[in-house]
Amino acid sequence: MWKRPKGQGLRDRWCNVCRWTGSAFLGSAHTESANCPQCGSIARDRFLLWCFTHRAGKMRGARVIETSPRLGGEYRSYMQRWFSYRTSDFDLSAHRGDIQLDLQNIELPDAAVDVVLTPHVLEHVPDTERALAELFRVIAPGGRMYLQVPLLQGRTAPPTEPEFHADNTPVLWRFGWDLIDLLRAAGFTTSALVTSEFDQLLRGELSPPEGPSGEFDVGSLIEDVRLGDLTIVADDEQSRRMGFEPCYHFATWECLRP
Ligand SMILES: [Zn+2]
Repeated sequence: MWKRPKGQGLRDRWCNVCRWTGSAFLGSAHTESANCPQCGSIARDRFLLWCFTHRAGKMRGARVIETSPRLGGEYRSYMQRWFSYRTSDFDLSAHRGDIQLDLQNIELPDAAVDVVLTPHVLEHVPDTERALAELFRVIAPGGRMYLQVPLLQGRTAPPTEPEFHADNTPVLWRFGWDLIDLLRAAGFTTSALVTSEFDQLLRGELSPPEGPSGEFDVGSLIEDVRLGDLTIVADDEQSRRMGFEPCYHFATWECLRP
């Protein structure tokens, strides 16, 4: 009997931001691509929301701040239906935001928020330790943070040549897995959330990609990771449905405020 090749022609792709289903995301399988045809989410947007909703459980009404979210109106109104949701930006130029916040000097009282979502902002902040101390201060005990940065290499270093993101903000840090040490030093209980496929890659059950992998130094991402720092947050089926591919593109740091 003829069998349909796995994953082809099925309407089995799903956007957890807008609930779209269909047969394919747009663009390549990449953390910065695989756009949802309906809401425009890219793969890392979906991974961040998945990490938060899958891990945090029922937090309806929680005070959530997201720093410089990429997505606009539809996503923000979705979040506002569930949470007391506000967005911030450093200077409100590259991104729209409800409030202006410098992570190194957050103008909020202690314990003012329950959840911080911070995608791709920390690499633009000069003083990482100061920013993490401020985030720890404004998150209420029992609260949490989901943090994403571009993870291109195993160990943290400044860029070797000037580097800018699409919105013209300079990249000051290229973080590696050792970011977790800074998060713990700031007081958070932390693990890096990854997919089951990445775990299989680390355990040698899958072969690493052959040839160049764009900006990603896959060798050092495999070599410098500590298995005990990882928590699997999506199985193979979930990763395929939401487009968390290739697996080594996806990590979110979960930071619990004791
Ligand atoms: Zn969508």
